[in-house]
Amino acid sequence: MSKIQVLDQITIDKIAAGEVIERPASIVKELAENAIDAGAGAIVIEIKEGGISFIRITDNGCGIAKEDVSNAFLRHSTSKIRSVDDLMDIHTLGFRGEALSSIAAVSRVELITKTRENDFGITYRIEGGKEISIEETGAPDGTTFLVRQLFYNTPARRKFLKTPMTEASHVADLVTRLALSHPEISFQFINNGQSKIHTSGNGNLKDVIYHIYGRDIASHLLEVKAENEHLKLTGYIGEPIVSRGNRNFENYYINGRYVKSQMISKAIEDAYKDFTMQHKYPFTVLHLEVKGDLLDVNVHPTKMEVRFGNQQEVYNFLCEAIGRSLHHEELIPHVEVPE
Ligand code: ADP
Ligand code: MG
Repeated sequence: MSKIQVLDQITIDKIAAGEVIERPASIVKELAENAIDAGAGAIVIEIKEGGISFIRITDNGCGIAKEDVSNAFLRHSTSKIRSVDDLMDIHTLGFRGEALSSIAAVSRVELITKTRENDFGITYRIEGGKEISIEETGAPDGTTFLVRQLFYNTPARRKFLKTPMTEASHVADLVTRLALSHPEISFQFINNGQSKIHTSGNGNLKDVIYHIYGRDIASHLLEVKAENEHLKLTGYIGEPIVSRGNRNFENYYINGRYVKSQMISKAIEDAYKDFTMQHKYPFTVLHLEVKGDLLDVNVHPTKMEVRFGNQQEVYNFLCEAIGRSLHHEELIPHVEVPE
């Protein structure tokens, strides 16, 4: 027998799942991003035991048609791009077609989905990458994913999970970022039956900041607004007095996507240099829109890294825009706070 074997699909999916599914929060990220891409106006995220035993995500988006349901769980199957050319200009959070196959490879999934065009919905079950059943059911428009027993078939990965409390706090952080990145969508986060976050979806970013961080932060915000041919920046930054000892409050989003970028963190911190003490980090919720093909989001499977075609321009633009708001504050203090 030859030594080299092509792996079967279930094994391939299990291996690939390692890249995108690290913990319950990764599943919530992928499923909530799918809900956003599906045009949902409201997304409810429920977890039990930190999401290890139970995650349920319900959206009122476009739903999945019956003939697409089982294909959606195939690796590299997506409705969001058609060809490599589309990679240059991506308007959705997903596009790699890996999440559903990865999640299904390492957990027990039940999907209930219905499109507006159909009178009936579909219940689909898949466990450890194996289809269990597909049947028609009554269901509201939209999609519910129920994900149970994460890593039940990959004990090595299960060992790396932290306590339910720690896993739940990762999910809460993630929902916070999603809510801040999409004020026009209502997010609800329910942990062990208790509602922890519930944003209105009224489109007002300041309301979301107030809901999540409370009055202490919300009453010390400065608005940021700047635009040029390639870039647009909107959002709020904290007055220097609400700066903290770590970077946890540095939130920024590019084209609606939460990312990590050393260059952006540096631009923010450099802009604050003259305003804060050393080792203090500002509060920011900034939305950067990059127009055209100057941005590459396809750097890593989790899409947390991005590459810019014009690093220096982006750095200068951010530094100047933030600097202007900080200087402006010295002249005209205070932004009103919602009651
Ligand atoms: P990607 O998001 O990269 O396209 P996924 O594996 O996350 O890949 O999802 C596969 C496909 O399943 C999506 O392209 C989309 O068509 C469909 N889908 C997944 N979740 C939803 C949802 N909540 N509502 C509607 N369609 C969905
Ligand atoms: Mg996706």
